[in-house]
Amino acid sequence: MHKRPLFRGVLLTLLLLTSSAFAAAQTPAPEILFTVAMSRPHTHLFDVEVAIKRQANAPPQEQLMMPVWTPGSYLVREFERHVQDFNATDAAGRPLKWEKTNKNTWRVITNGAREWRATYRVYANELSVRTSELNSSHAFWNNANLLMYLDGQLKAPSTVHVLAPDVWKVATGLPGVPGQRNTFRAENFDILYDSPFEASNFKTLVFNVKGVPHRIVIDGEGNYDPERMRTDVQRIVETEVELMGEIPYRDYTFILHLRQNAGGGLEHLNSASLGYPRFDLRTRPGKRTTSAAPIATDDSESDYRGFLSLVSHEFFHLWNVKRIRPDALGPFDYTQENYTKLLWVAEGITDYYAEVTLRRAGLISEEDYLDAAARAIQGLQNTPGRLVQSAEESSFDSWIKYYRQDENSINSQVSYYDKGALLGMLLDLQIRQRSSNRKSLDDVMRFLYTEFFKKNRNYTPADFQKAAELMAGSSLEEFFTRYVRGKDELDYNGALAAVGLKLDTGVTTVDGKPVERAILGADLEQDQDRLMVRSVRAGSPAYEQGLNAGDQIVAIDNVRVTRDFFIARLGEKKPGDLINLTIFRFDDLSTLLIKLGARTEGTYKLVPLPNQTEAQKQIYRAWLGLRA
Ligand SMILES: [Zn+2]
Repeated sequence: MHKRPLFRGVLLTLLLLTSSAFAAAQTPAPEILFTVAMSRPHTHLFDVEVAIKRQANAPPQEQLMMPVWTPGSYLVREFERHVQDFNATDAAGRPLKWEKTNKNTWRVITNGAREWRATYRVYANELSVRTSELNSSHAFWNNANLLMYLDGQLKAPSTVHVLAPDVWKVATGLPGVPGQRNTFRAENFDILYDSPFEASNFKTLVFNVKGVPHRIVIDGEGNYDPERMRTDVQRIVETEVELMGEIPYRDYTFILHLRQNAGGGLEHLNSASLGYPRFDLRTRPGKRTTSAAPIATDDSESDYRGFLSLVSHEFFHLWNVKRIRPDALGPFDYTQENYTKLLWVAEGITDYYAEVTLRRAGLISEEDYLDAAARAIQGLQNTPGRLVQSAEESSFDSWIKYYRQDENSINSQVSYYDKGALLGMLLDLQIRQRSSNRKSLDDVMRFLYTEFFKKNRNYTPADFQKAAELMAGSSLEEFFTRYVRGKDELDYNGALAAVGLKLDTGVTTVDGKPVERAILGADLEQDQDRLMVRSVRAGSPAYEQGLNAGDQIVAIDNVRVTRDFFIARLGEKKPGDLINLTIFRFDDLSTLLIKLGARTEGTYKLVPLPNQTEAQKQIYRAWLGLRA
């Protein structure tokens, strides 16, 4: 963001006054008024009008541009592909000539007109936190999907007037224009594009933190307990505000869509969009029991805890990424990729704080926090790509890799979320240990907020390392070289010793010998009545002996299989046993004889070291927010 809306109001006025002397030499920003109408919601077509008004110096032609991506979701999504029925007219309604000059640019021949307007429609039928949906029950949109900017005028303020069905309310993080119904003001286009809208018959839960109003706008029915949700979200907000020290906004809006298959979140300056499965808002008792064959990247079971984790993550972003901004992330270039090596901080460390916050807020137990951390470690260690791609490389290539995963991703990539969160934990523990519990990663985040955001600067990878070293009181060059820029295995036990813990990898022994279990190394998916190989882990027996992602397994040892049946049979095998797989590869039936490998590891756990010192106990309590 170029201009912060909340701290710079006074400064901006001052600048405008003092710069008026040479205003004649500079072209003042045009007046830009958007009208977003939805007269036929069932067609999924938004009617957008953009009216441009200039005081002077109107150029003979102007270009309207549609962003190709929206900040927070690092993939070029080509929002311009949903634009249709473009037209331009002058103030008297006479048509103006226009042409497209590339995929997302409309050049309008205005002949120097000071007032003109363009109209177009945008098809919106995809509900996700980064796209838009209009139908007979609601409208949700990201402005980067809908509103074009005037080339060269990203700093211009604009007004958005929403014409929604009478029975719908309108929610957004943008401030309303006093006295004008459903009319909102954006100080510049970075703020405009950072402020999604919801228009519907939504329900609202409200609470205040330090006198600042917060609301949860809920579209869709679900099995949530409103009072519990309100109280718990408030607790998350309070805990993160306490951590960062202040509230840098005037109000905050969570827009929550409850649908059967909704998911994900997107952070904004003073709002967040969230999607969650509507019937997964209860606590699921007894879940997360051990799995003999953990899948690396996700825990597909969602429940109320997962919802709190999502809230905690997106809310923490209001500092980490929206204000503590990595080098390339704001002001944005909306026409192409914006590269940064820092998504492991922006996303990974946000993920670390999402979990730590739930613990410090008292919303989850110590055991729950430590179990989740152990699962995260196991997930990373089961990802062969951790040895192929560094956290910085993963961040940088997000645009072509993280958001475009395929069957090879597990072998060639590491998630900057998953590894970044663990790097955050390791760094936090290192800083606490080296500073004798006087400093922590919390201090790093506050330092970046004060020294970068408040001084209107973005930070670089070197700045981040320096901030961490400042708090640790010594060099972290080796840490950053090996684990952030490099691909070395993380030293979990080295870091966990600070809090008197160690990683137990679940190796069981009989007569002093580790018990070996048979392993194939393929991730399987039941697709209706077909058992499909989703991916094959590099180095595993499946990989080395020729099973392919995309193969359909028909039978094991000549008996027809389902996923459950297959896993049960595998569980009966010993390392070195042969299995005979009947597979379809494309259209061809064949058989594969595979010799199973061995693994000794079971379910990871974080367990206390014997004879913990008082120093370890103290750091542990400070880390997880436990009373002394
Ligand atoms: Zn995030």
